[in-house]
Amino acid sequence: MNGVSQGLERFRETMRRDRVFDLVNNPAENPALDVSHGMALYLEGITKSFDGFRALDDLTLYIGDGELRCIIGPNGAGKTTLMDVITGKTRPDAGTAWFGNRINLLRLKEHEIAGKGIGRKFQKPTVFENHSVHENLELALHADRGLLTSLTWKLNGEQRDQLDETLELIGLKERRDAPAGSLSHGQKQWLEIGSLLMQKPRLLLVDEPVAGMSGQETEATAELLTSLAGRHSVVVVEHDMDFVRSIARQVTVLHQGSVLAEGRMDEVQADPRVREVYLGEEN
Ligand code: ADP
Ligand code: MG
Repeated sequence: MNGVSQGLERFRETMRRDRVFDLVNNPAENPALDVSHGMALYLEGITKSFDGFRALDDLTLYIGDGELRCIIGPNGAGKTTLMDVITGKTRPDAGTAWFGNRINLLRLKEHEIAGKGIGRKFQKPTVFENHSVHENLELALHADRGLLTSLTWKLNGEQRDQLDETLELIGLKERRDAPAGSLSHGQKQWLEIGSLLMQKPRLLLVDEPVAGMSGQETEATAELLTSLAGRHSVVVVEHDMDFVRSIARQVTVLHQGSVLAEGRMDEVQADPRVREVYLGEEN
């Protein structure tokens, strides 16, 4: 193909209706995140009080582009509040929060932050029980779209590929036509992670993914999250120490709203201050 017909081909491809709608209605796709310093998230001096109680206290945390980070800490340490601040659900009283080098999270509303490519998985799985596994993934694509697209919408080839890849990744290829309601608890969690992935997040926040899972499911979840790193930055809040040990390269320990320790799991576990606050709670 010569240059001209190649150009024409590309033009036609762009003008196909579904592609145009993609460009107009789906800003989350390929967000132009500036990570030229290698960092996806910069939180500095974040403080948040509830009735005078400091849930987050001068917290500083950096997450690298493509990094998989685990955040642990006793109950009340501020882990959920931290996720709330990143996703715009809670406004801090002080501090700065940047997504990449250019996106000031504190200037954006919750849905705008989601649109910039920050996805959050809550603890409880919320899937559409009466819809099949693949319909759930399709609906996740849908969620980003305007009404006009919803009415005329049909998967394009690229989206079908993405759906197949996601099914493979979350281990539900064989269950694609099964109603989501028939899945095990663990499989529902994976389906929800898959739904988030359909929106191509740059940063994925996952709250206690293995709570209530069987040992085998926990292992598979560790594998899934590990495989996401690189393409996405992933922040996992988790209580299950064995799980954290199995996936984490870098662990942050929160305590009383600030970072108590940071490093490899074996390093933070050997830290006497961590042992004090953590073992005090667990035993
Ligand atoms: P974690 O997730 O680490 O268990 P949280 O972030 O949920 O901790 O909570 C940190 C502290 O902030 C807790 O003492 C909690 O009671 C308090 N807190 C969190 N959200 C609120 C709120 N909306 N109103 C009052 N206190 C809150
Ligand atoms: Mg919590």
